[in-house]
Amino acid sequence: MSSGEQAEWFFESDFGVDIRCGIKARLLHEGRTKFQEMRIYEHELLGKVLVLDDIIQTTSSDEFFYHEMFVRVPLLGHPRWGEAERELDVLIIGGGDGGILREVLRYPKVRRVTMVEIDGEVVEFCQRYLGFNGDYDDPRVELIIGDGAAYVSGAAPASFDHCIIDSTDPGGPSMVLYTKEFHEHVRTLLKPDGSMVRHMGVAFHHHAIYRPILTEIQDLFPRLQVYRNSIPAYVGGDMAFACATKDGHAIHEPQAEDPGRFYNAEIHRASFAMSEWWKQHYLPEPR
Ligand code: SAM
Repeated sequence: MSSGEQAEWFFESDFGVDIRCGIKARLLHEGRTKFQEMRIYEHELLGKVLVLDDIIQTTSSDEFFYHEMFVRVPLLGHPRWGEAERELDVLIIGGGDGGILREVLRYPKVRRVTMVEIDGEVVEFCQRYLGFNGDYDDPRVELIIGDGAAYVSGAAPASFDHCIIDSTDPGGPSMVLYTKEFHEHVRTLLKPDGSMVRHMGVAFHHHAIYRPILTEIQDLFPRLQVYRNSIPAYVGGDMAFACATKDGHAIHEPQAEDPGRFYNAEIHRASFAMSEWWKQHYLPEPR
């Protein structure tokens, strides 16, 4: 179907759950990149929708529910956030739609952002069609089109305050971002009080996949905290975020107020409340 035609239905099939967007969607772009099938729709309710290998990645209507919680919780939750002279070096793995970059760049104390995204076409087409990306021309930004696993294996030890991993779900090019070796390399590149944060799927659908990975991360770091948030475009309930800290600092108490279009201090704190289901089915067994 050429771009511009009315597409009646859009299907996503995620772990055996077919999601059919019954509201009209217009196909804006379709093509296979070097790594994945990319489609971009315009949807009456969801706005612009990025789809990679048939999985919704992000939408313009609710991207900030995700990107604000992904970035502001670990950054504002760091106990040293308020130290005026503290400047931050941040590493982003993935995040080709540019939403994480936008959230990170909002803070003047961020001195340097290195973003390693494997697929340059995702960056290009998201800039062109979605438009909620951070400024790649900001002098603090180094955009590297490459494999995040290769990058972390060669990164200088103790060189980043935060590593934010916004990758696709395990599969294809992102498989290498879910291994113990990858997490060990991330731990090495973090400064002594650094943190690694990553999304860990929609808990109800993906707990069998992610729980073992969470357990492995818990074994590598003195503290692992999981928080959750509901993102309407990701069907199946709350999405999980996992934050591991190298010195064991906790991040559940915001050190500053920085309300966004979604984030605020109350939701920061509340996102760490865990139901009995999450404790029994999703969180790793306590050490
Ligand atoms: N919000 C989405 C989610 O929850 O799944 C993720 C969005 S972002 C578009 C995911 C990005 O990870 C994609 O742009 C993809 O190209 C990138 N990616 C996948 N494997 C990668 C790798 N090995 N190194 C760097 N980036 C990778």
